Amino acid sequence: MAIVIVGAGLAGGTAATELRERGYEGEVVLLGEEEHPPYERPPLSKGYLLGNDELDGAFVHARDWYAEHDVDLRTGVQATALDTDAHVLSTTDGDLTYERLLLATGAEPRRLAFAEDAGIEVAYLRTIEDSDRLKAAFGEGKRIAVVGAGWIGLEVAAAARAAGSDVTVFETAELPLLRVLGPTVARVFADLHREHGVDLRLGAAVSLDDLAGADLVVAGIGVSPRVDLARNGGLAVDDGVLVDAGLRTSVPSVLAVGDIASQAHPVLGRRIRVEHWDTAINQAKTAAHNLAGGDEVYDTLPYFFTDQYDLGMEYVGHAGADDEVVVHGDLDAKTFRAFWIRDDRVVAAMHANDWDATDALREAVATGELPEAP
Ligand code: FAD
Ligand code: NAP
Repeated sequence: MAIVIVGAGLAGGTAATELRERGYEGEVVLLGEEEHPPYERPPLSKGYLLGNDELDGAFVHARDWYAEHDVDLRTGVQATALDTDAHVLSTTDGDLTYERLLLATGAEPRRLAFAEDAGIEVAYLRTIEDSDRLKAAFGEGKRIAVVGAGWIGLEVAAAARAAGSDVTVFETAELPLLRVLGPTVARVFADLHREHGVDLRLGAAVSLDDLAGADLVVAGIGVSPRVDLARNGGLAVDDGVLVDAGLRTSVPSVLAVGDIASQAHPVLGRRIRVEHWDTAINQAKTAAHNLAGGDEVYDTLPYFFTDQYDLGMEYVGHAGADDEVVVHGDLDAKTFRAFWIRDDRVVAAMHANDWDATDALREAVATGELPEAP
């Protein structure tokens, strides 16, 4: 019987790759509702959206790789129901019997319902087609309204500005990325976008009047994990599909990874669901091992990155907006290292435009010790 992977995104594609690279020789079925083979999404809001990079680099592999490695890739197929007692997955292409199942169904954008209900067309950014649509709408003098100053909102704003568009960003919080970075570091991102000509409107709800004159409205107001298949199949679900340290769900023959997985993290000592590229890849590798009969624990700390204009940053660990922050370097020059402290321990660290810093940041979070200022 097969290992079946639901969701041919980054996590699903990486799991299939890892199964073969670790020498697993059994049947592997990888199914996804998109027509494309698995791809990475970061370029969709950065290099590809900017027109700097081709799409080829975003694919986990070219389509031929799957057949060459005996992975049964079925695109354009949706999984519709799960019977964990009978080990049967129903799909729009018929039923599949599995020995072990990996759920990697990812997340989908939250809708800006009040604007859609009022007849305003709202664009979102999750897929290649979405990115193509945005790119086509950007241009000299085009008025782009962006709702949400999270990762999507800010990266879209940067790409739209680079294309010469007039960009207004609406965010209910007092600063962009406030919940993730806290006020000291979030202010750097507010300054960055204003310096690049974005009209950043913070601390107020966006209204229909605000959106009325825009050529394009883009909403980046967060995502919802796609947990319906798991919930309807009787798996334990809260904010995501509940998994243990080895990424097993409440039914041990079913594992879950990536944006949908709410993991009891063995190092952080609490449950966490991470919506980032690095977690999708590394959880998929651990899951592949466990699907093939292994017993690995996923203990990697969360990590993410962004590129906006001339600012690149990396972040490792997990802090709250209220945690104390210590900065080494120059916030105004946007070249610095920041360390978030809770109970006298470093729980997260980031750098901006300091690419030699990554190892030191990981070390600080792993040991909990604040390094000396350079
Ligand atoms: P996904 O990539 O969402 O893949 C899930 C797949 O499953 C999708 O193709 C979906 O269609 C399919 N699927 C869902 N349900 C079913 C079903 N029932 N049947 C069949 N198929 C199904 N993270 C970073 O760390 N850094 C970045 O710079 C960054 N940039 C990003 C830019 C964009 C535009 C976006 C959208 C995300 C970005 N992320 C970034 C987040 C990162 O892409 C996600 O965390 C990652 O894609 C999660 O991988 P996944 O495989 O869990 O889910
Ligand atoms: P996000 O990072 O959760 O940010 C959403 C932002 O929108 C938050 O600042 C939120 O404020 C705000 N918001 C929510 N409702 C709003 C409303 N009605 N009006 C105005 N603002 C509103 O989500 P995202 O930016 O949509 O990104 C989607 C997913 O892609 C996430 O999983 C993200 O991690 C991923 N992604 C990551 C990267 C990266 O790591 N570089 C890049 C792109 C995408 P509150 O916080 O106050 O709710």
